[in-house]
Amino acid sequence: MRMPEPDGAVIARKRAIVETLRTLVPGPGGVIFDEDELRAYETDGLTAYRQIPMIVVLPSSTAEVSAVLRYCHDEGIKIVPRGAGTGLSGGALPLADGITLGLSKLNRILEVDYPNRCVVTQPGVTNLGITRAVEAEGFYYAPDPSSQIACSIGGNIAENSGGVHCLKYGLTTNNVLGVEFVLMDGTVVRFGGKHLDAEGYDLLGVVTGSEGLLGIVTEVTVRILRKPATARALLLGFPSSEQAGDCVAEIIAAGIIPGGMEMMDKPAIHATEAFVHAGYPLDVEALLIVELDGPEAEVEHLIERVDAIARQQGATYHRASAGEAEREAFWSGRKNAFPAVGRISPDYLCMDGTIPRNRLPEVLARMREMSERYGLRVANVFHAGDGNLHPLILYDANKPDELARTEAFGAEILKLCVEVGGVLTGEHGVGVEKRDLMGAMFDETDLKQQQRLKCAFDPDQLLNPGKVFPQLHRCAELGRLHVHHGKLPFPDLPRF
Ligand SMILES: Cc1cc2nc3c(=O)[nH]c(=O)nc-3n(C[C@H](O)[C@H](O)[C@H](O)COP(=O)(O)OP(=O)(O)OC[C@H]3O[C@@H](n4cnc5c(N)ncnc54)[C@H](O)[C@@H]3O)c2cc1C
Repeated sequence: MRMPEPDGAVIARKRAIVETLRTLVPGPGGVIFDEDELRAYETDGLTAYRQIPMIVVLPSSTAEVSAVLRYCHDEGIKIVPRGAGTGLSGGALPLADGITLGLSKLNRILEVDYPNRCVVTQPGVTNLGITRAVEAEGFYYAPDPSSQIACSIGGNIAENSGGVHCLKYGLTTNNVLGVEFVLMDGTVVRFGGKHLDAEGYDLLGVVTGSEGLLGIVTEVTVRILRKPATARALLLGFPSSEQAGDCVAEIIAAGIIPGGMEMMDKPAIHATEAFVHAGYPLDVEALLIVELDGPEAEVEHLIERVDAIARQQGATYHRASAGEAEREAFWSGRKNAFPAVGRISPDYLCMDGTIPRNRLPEVLARMREMSERYGLRVANVFHAGDGNLHPLILYDANKPDELARTEAFGAEILKLCVEVGGVLTGEHGVGVEKRDLMGAMFDETDLKQQQRLKCAFDPDQLLNPGKVFPQLHRCAELGRLHVHHGKLPFPDLPRF
């Protein structure tokens, strides 16, 4: 995987850059430049790729973020934003000649506003921290990535993160009302706010999912919801993944939108049960966890309907949670599926693609064939209701060629997602992981249009370069790349 060539001239100025940054971010531990300390930032959740950053800077306020960006803008220094570093597509992978801008010190909840049903928070607060701040009053923040105990709300916005309850309550983009955003030249702007709908273009929509390429989120306003009166979860076991997939489609077709509907295949069930002891059946090929929430009478009615649909689809195991502790135990298995799989393999690569729900059985069958062909095991965890797949490909990085084979297997899965009418990513973003596959989904015209948007925010391409786009264009040249007699213009432009 290629990244932009580091600029030796910038690296040579490291000492002077550190001195300036210390004046801009004067607090203790605000600037990190010692190699041993920098190593803590060399990777994110996509640990297959590592790079020690030139410098890490940890501002404590919007004003400090703005000052750092303005300085880097004027000096032509690249910036890689970083929240909690749990991203799975390498979005926070550092650059050798870049500054990693960590937002972890911006970690205060600024306001809880019940009349407007929203929370205003700094970006370094964890996803779960928002729910913790309002749960005593019976509220919660709905999008719940499995990493919610650690990941930051700023990172959630940058990745448009999802979770098991997003089927009914929407992804991050459906729950964010406003942001304060610092542009690369240091300008501080606001998109959205406590009100619904934006004045003018939906720039909040543009910022959500922008993977740190357009600016830095320094404040966030999110919607909070009242906790449903009742929530119960059903465990449904099936003799085949295809039957479980059909059951998902039938539940939705019946007009039922569960609070969450997750699926795990046999390897994932066994790994999870051994780790968390959630009470999962071990003699089934696929397991669905279906949560119904709302008023008690409605939940009871829906549990019966879902159970009846599951029986029609051949379910051989049925168990409804009897109380809150059991419901949480059912979910604790699913939420710990990734670390559980980490216990049965030295390494794994977590893929993230989305398909139309009704193509699930076919995609599962083709993945099984690929697994045999590549000689690599795969454990499957899905946000089944959303058609969002998370195949975990198990490999051993110490075995020669195994990472390369794993990446080829993963790329084939993602291309299959596109082939059946889906998309390259569901919730983990493109980052570096899927960057070189963007051409499988978008043609040159699409990609150039997307880069024009990037250029409107960051014309010098200093924010997170090397991520998302398979080729760097200089903004002034966009749209004029023309090959004449086989001679590529601008041969100095990095192409990955
Ligand atoms: C065990 C595990 C389970 C996971 N489960 C889920 C899941 O269920 N659903 C899901 O969607 N994801 C999941 N993830 C992925 C990850 O947690 C999310 O993508 C999360 O939103 C990343 O947040 P972060 O704070 O760690 O961001 P980072 O990893 O630090 O950064 C992610 C991206 O956001 C940018 N960024 C971070 N903060 C800012 C900011 N303030 N302003 C601008 N750009 C910024 C970075 O440049 C980078 O491109 C999981 C990860 C792990 C390790």
